[in-house]
Amino acid sequence: MKIPTEPIGSIPRPGYLLEAMSAFAQAKIPEAEFNQALEKALKETISLFEQTGSPVITDGEQGKPSFATYPIHGSRELAPDGVVIPFADGHTRQLPKFTGRKFKYENFAGNYLKRAKQLTSLPVKQAVISVSALSLLYPQEGIDGYTQTQFIADLLNEAEKDIRQCFNNGAYTVQIDFTEARLAIKLDPSKSLLKMFIDLNNQVLDRFTKEEQNRIGVHTCPGGDNDSTHSADVGYPELLPYLFQLHAGNFYLEYAAEKNKKDTLRSIKESVQPNQRVFLGVTNVLDKRIETPQEIRDLILEAADILPPSQLGTTDDCGFSPFADDISTARDLAFAKIKARVQGTILAESQLRL
Ligand SMILES: [Zn+2]
Repeated sequence: MKIPTEPIGSIPRPGYLLEAMSAFAQAKIPEAEFNQALEKALKETISLFEQTGSPVITDGEQGKPSFATYPIHGSRELAPDGVVIPFADGHTRQLPKFTGRKFKYENFAGNYLKRAKQLTSLPVKQAVISVSALSLLYPQEGIDGYTQTQFIADLLNEAEKDIRQCFNNGAYTVQIDFTEARLAIKLDPSKSLLKMFIDLNNQVLDRFTKEEQNRIGVHTCPGGDNDSTHSADVGYPELLPYLFQLHAGNFYLEYAAEKNKKDTLRSIKESVQPNQRVFLGVTNVLDKRIETPQEIRDLILEAADILPPSQLGTTDDCGFSPFADDISTARDLAFAKIKARVQGTILAESQLRL
C-alpha cells in the first residue's frame, strides 16, 4: 500500500541568506549579490532535501520573504498598519494594507519553482498563498475610487495566474496555504468569516479543471511562528465540515501536535469526500524533539484504523520557517524530522500491505 508523503514548504534560511536579504532590503548590497546568496542557499537546501529521501521536495521557500507576503514584496502601494495577528505566546505579526488603485502581484510563486526545477530531477511541490489571506490587505476604511469588489476581482485573477504559472512551470502539486482557517473561527465564532474565506478560495479553484483540482491541495494549521500558534484552541471538528467543501483534491493538515487525535480522525472521516486525500502532519514542527520512524509509523497505523488508507498521505505539521526571519528551528533539525517522516511512512506502508 503506497502512502504519498510531501513536505509543506519552508526550511529555515541559512544565516548568510538572511544577512543578504536584510542588506539588499536596505540597499546596502546590489541585487546580484543577493541573488548569489540565494542561489547558494537553494543549491544547499535542495541537495539536503534530496538526501532525506523525500520523494517530493520544495525549494524550502528560501527566496520567499514569507509564505503570505511574497506577492506584495517590494510593492510601493502598501501602508504598514494592517491586520494584526496575535499569537498564543504574546508576539504578533502585522499585515500591511493596500493603498493603490489596481491590485497586482509583484512576484509569482512560479518563478521560485522555475529556479528550483533547474537544480533537481525530483518532483517539486510549490506553495501559494490563499486569496482569503490576501483579501485582508484591503483596508477596513476602504480606498477612494477602488471598491472592495474591484479589489477582490483583481485579486482572484492574480491568484489564478499564480497557480497556473506553477503548473506551467512543472509543479508536481500546488498547495494553497490557508493557515487563517481556524483563526477565522476564533475571530468570528458565527463562522461567517470562515464561510466567506471558503467561498473566495472556491472562486479561484473553480477556474481549474477537475484534473487540475486533483493536483491542488490546501494546507491548514493553527499558524506556526517562533514556536507558537495563533488558533490551536479552535478544534478541528469546528473547521473540517467546511474545509472539505473546498474544491481541491488534497488536504495537508497539522496533526502531530494536535491534542485530541481521535476526535480529529473521526471528524475527518465524517467530512472528507471520496475524491479527497488527507495528508496528516506526522512531525511536530514546534517541538525540538525528533520523532522516531517507529512512532510515526504507529501514528499512521492508528489513523488507518479510522480513515481509508487509500485516502491517506503524510506531511509535516507546517512549514519549518514560514516567515524568513523565524530562526527558532535549526536547519539540520528540520531535515532530520523530514527524514523521520519519510522512514516512518515507509514502515507504515509495509505494515498496511499485510
Ligand atoms: Zn502551517
